[in-house]
Amino acid sequence: MAIFNHISFDDHEQVVFCHDKESGLKAIIAIHNTNLGPAVGGCRMWNYESDDEAVTDVLRLSRGMTYKNAMAGLAMGGGKSVIIADPKVQDREALFRAFGRCIDTLGGKYYSAEDVGVSTSDIMIAHQETPYMAGLEGKSGDPSPFTALGTYLGIKAAVKHQRGIDSLKGLKISVQGVGHVGYYLCRHLHAEGAELIVTDIHQASLDKVATEFGATVVAPQDIYHQDVDVYAPCALGATINDITIPMIKATIVAGCANNQLAEVRHGEMLKDLGILYAPDYVINAGGIINVSFEKDYDASAATAKVEEIYNTLLTVFSHADEQNRTTGDVADEMARAIIDAAK
Ligand code: NAD
Repeated sequence: MAIFNHISFDDHEQVVFCHDKESGLKAIIAIHNTNLGPAVGGCRMWNYESDDEAVTDVLRLSRGMTYKNAMAGLAMGGGKSVIIADPKVQDREALFRAFGRCIDTLGGKYYSAEDVGVSTSDIMIAHQETPYMAGLEGKSGDPSPFTALGTYLGIKAAVKHQRGIDSLKGLKISVQGVGHVGYYLCRHLHAEGAELIVTDIHQASLDKVATEFGATVVAPQDIYHQDVDVYAPCALGATINDITIPMIKATIVAGCANNQLAEVRHGEMLKDLGILYAPDYVINAGGIINVSFEKDYDASAATAKVEEIYNTLLTVFSHADEQNRTTGDVADEMARAIIDAAK
């Protein structure tokens, strides 16, 4: 397995492999860029099929965090960690303590928080071994409602830009993945009168949104070709690819999942089809914005900062139109300017 020649290597500052024999911990931490401050980004726990798959994920996700934190106007660099394990594993104490010890060895260059497969209680376990954990109980806590708020406002910005309307009432929105963020997103969308079509691989989560929000449930493979206004990817990454793009009937793709485009060129394909894409790391920054308020936690200040996502996206969309470029390209350029200026 190569690192420096890896296709997803992007001048990362540090990549750390952690192993603890007793707990069975196998984790990788990637610190992408610290120009703006210590690297901050969640920890994902997943059944990766190979070490290489985990490396690819952590390299891509950590780069995304650098861009996300910069675009959100945070004094934080980009990093991410992955634990190679079944996210449903029951015995988590030893594992997350070992993870915390590994984070501690970096001396504050990287702060971890929750991501897919990791909960606030896991973060609290790791925190017993290191101060360098964020999203703590009693402080900023679960970032998901804030990510959902930002995503909801991002969908509104996309609808405003494309159709000139301020309300989502009567619009059909498909949500792929109704987990932590997807659930709260559905709540916002339902409250505004949107019609929901949802999918997940977890039946209990589906039952909940069907009952509470009257959502129509479809099978995972049927989510792409639904006749909807907006498709919101809120599960895992790379769901926008050569196979799915021809199926998409929505004119807007705006959701909270990280790394939605399988490859950069898929952003071009969406643009050519007239589908407006809200760059993932811009629309899904709500959670990390909330985490950035961890020290002297103030929910209303965090909420106000999350609400800025609406205008940031409007700026990205209008620059993309004016310059006939993809929204992803424009966002990358804006983020890079901020990162380079901080060097
Ligand atoms: P989660 O694990 O709680 O939810 C993901 C949901 O997707 C689960 O319910 C899972 O069953 C479902 N799912 C998995 N594979 C699926 C498939 N093939 N088809 C349909 N559903 C599937 O995670 P989350 O915290 O809600 O995060 C969702 C996405 O948003 C992830 O990509 C995450 O990286 C990203 N994100 C989350 C946050 C946050 O604050 N939690 C912040 C930024 C980005």
